[in-house]
Amino acid sequence: MFRRKFPQVLCIGLALVIVINLLLVFYTKGTLQNLVLGGLQRELHLPLSEWDRAVIKRLSQLEVNLQHLEESMKLAMKQQENVNNTLQKVKDEVHPVQKVAKAKTSDTEKHKSPKKLFPNSQLFKQWGEDLSEAQQKVAQDLFQKFGYNAYLSNQLPLNRTIPDTRHSRCLQKTYSPQLPSLSVVLIFMNEALSIIERAVTSVIHRTPSQLLKEIILVDDFSSNGELKVHLDGKIKLYNQKYPGLLTIVRHSERKGLAQARNTGWEAARADVVAILDAHIEVNVGWAEPILARIQEDRTVIVSPVFDKISFDTFKLNKYELAVDGFNWELWCRYDSLPKAWVDLRDVTAPVKSPSIMGILAANRIFLGEIGSLDGGMLTYGGENVELSLRVWQCGGKIEVLPCSRVAHLERYHKPYALDLSPFMKRNALRVAEIWMDEHKHMVYLAWNIPLQNSGIDYGDISSRVALREKLKCKTFDWYLKNVYPILKPIHSIVGYGRMKNTLDKNVCLDRGPVPGSTPIMHPCHKFNPQNVYYHLTGEFYIGQLIAEANTDDHCLTDPGSGEKPTLEPCSMAAKNGLHIYWDFKQGGAVVNRSTRRCLEIKNTSGAFVLVLQTCTTQVWEIQYTVGNWGSY
Ligand code: UDP
Ligand code: MN
Repeated sequence: MFRRKFPQVLCIGLALVIVINLLLVFYTKGTLQNLVLGGLQRELHLPLSEWDRAVIKRLSQLEVNLQHLEESMKLAMKQQENVNNTLQKVKDEVHPVQKVAKAKTSDTEKHKSPKKLFPNSQLFKQWGEDLSEAQQKVAQDLFQKFGYNAYLSNQLPLNRTIPDTRHSRCLQKTYSPQLPSLSVVLIFMNEALSIIERAVTSVIHRTPSQLLKEIILVDDFSSNGELKVHLDGKIKLYNQKYPGLLTIVRHSERKGLAQARNTGWEAARADVVAILDAHIEVNVGWAEPILARIQEDRTVIVSPVFDKISFDTFKLNKYELAVDGFNWELWCRYDSLPKAWVDLRDVTAPVKSPSIMGILAANRIFLGEIGSLDGGMLTYGGENVELSLRVWQCGGKIEVLPCSRVAHLERYHKPYALDLSPFMKRNALRVAEIWMDEHKHMVYLAWNIPLQNSGIDYGDISSRVALREKLKCKTFDWYLKNVYPILKPIHSIVGYGRMKNTLDKNVCLDRGPVPGSTPIMHPCHKFNPQNVYYHLTGEFYIGQLIAEANTDDHCLTDPGSGEKPTLEPCSMAAKNGLHIYWDFKQGGAVVNRSTRRCLEIKNTSGAFVLVLQTCTTQVWEIQYTVGNWGSY
């Protein structure tokens, strides 16, 4: 309880100190002014010396600063009061009958630790020990609404300090005084107001004011009420202080993140545009490396390095520098730093990167020339890979800048979708169809989608294909060889999808428990542990398709003895001569090419288990086939 009261006591104490300081400043300034102006100047007829002027200027500044501090303190106290009032209201609504008894019992209650109302909520796993029941309810409601701890965000200062996560060498860097101007775009959909304000505050405080031309907010049709009049009011206040700095553009229907970013880009007028999520706090010195690099080369699209703001505690976790990559489903991920960069031995040097994560900065005009973002992407995902392939294949480049750091709030859940995969899948097909040429089947395989008649409407791609032609872009094969050699497309897969034994079509071949290397039969579902890929060369991959240089897929293996098959890393298994090659045709037996044993199922205590045994008459079916393979 005291811990909760403590900020109030501190507030009052600080306010007193400020008032005394203000009086002191007024007094000292007045005396000095009298002395200097009235005394010395009038009596001796001397001009005001530089030193006197400086003293008066400094004191005036101090006065203004103290006034600002006082205003902030008043605001903080008012906010605290509002929070307390709201909480009290909620408490009263929740326990109306206990209201009178409360006053009597409150002294004893102080020492009891409050009951945990939401023991299973992720919000309270590492936070909220001291919250009263009413506070827990408010916090949990806000958590469900936003996917992060908006309760805590509403209490944290808008201009809070975050650790400077840059390498110490970044601090020694100097930049040209003539950098290009910057438009910052912040896109959002149902974000807590305090989060947006903190993002704006961080941009204002941590970007050199002569470079920051504007901040453009893009509202992708939020339904959250406080983002209407309240946000408009805040923008007005900011603009009173920084004339013309903030603008807001609102979508009149939900258009998804790619379109929201495009809307921001269209509204921007500075030389460089940085397009960010609105749940970020830019860190010190974030803008200069971006502006300097884009000034040097207008065709480079850059990404800052992200740090993570935890959704519950709002603490900052530093992320190590990495390059932005993606897998064949086109989900983003971090890859290790390229050798060429490591060999440079300059931790501040830009890192060539195959992709971006989403947040980006670019020369505004160049971003337009190259086609900004694909407005045909819906809701979430894919747009970052689409931009990346387009930039690389059509003459630009992508880099991560180690000295530019942005803290990004990682939400526990999204306010717009519980499951992002349907959007990811659909948008990934768009990328594959526009950019990936003869390797596009890899995306279908990874998502376990039939190559023909997928039933997925990825929209009209004709204008993007026309853009590709207009820009005379290189092939995806060129991109793989020159930019992202880690990805290894496979052309030998002839059957894929769920693998069922005709004895029981309710169970599917499954990669089994992880960690572990024992495949099993398991009731069929739609997730990738049950993806199976049969190669013309005889391998069966089981589980998520990897198809990469440094990570092995899992190969179905006959260990030679015992009745259980195993999963082994494919290339190692091949090197060591393990029995990973099988004969199989659609609707036929699965026979190991070297041991001649069959993969079959056996009913043990009412359930089917996977075994290797002398072949009986069992046959298997795989969900999808490629071309004419397997048709008799
Ligand atoms: N977003 C949007 N419209 C949508 C979905 C997302 O404007 O329909 C915005 C969202 O508010 C956020 C950005 O797109 O600013 C990226 O989404 P999110 O932060 O959920 O993704 P993450 O950063 O976790 O990948
Ligand atoms: Mn985000």
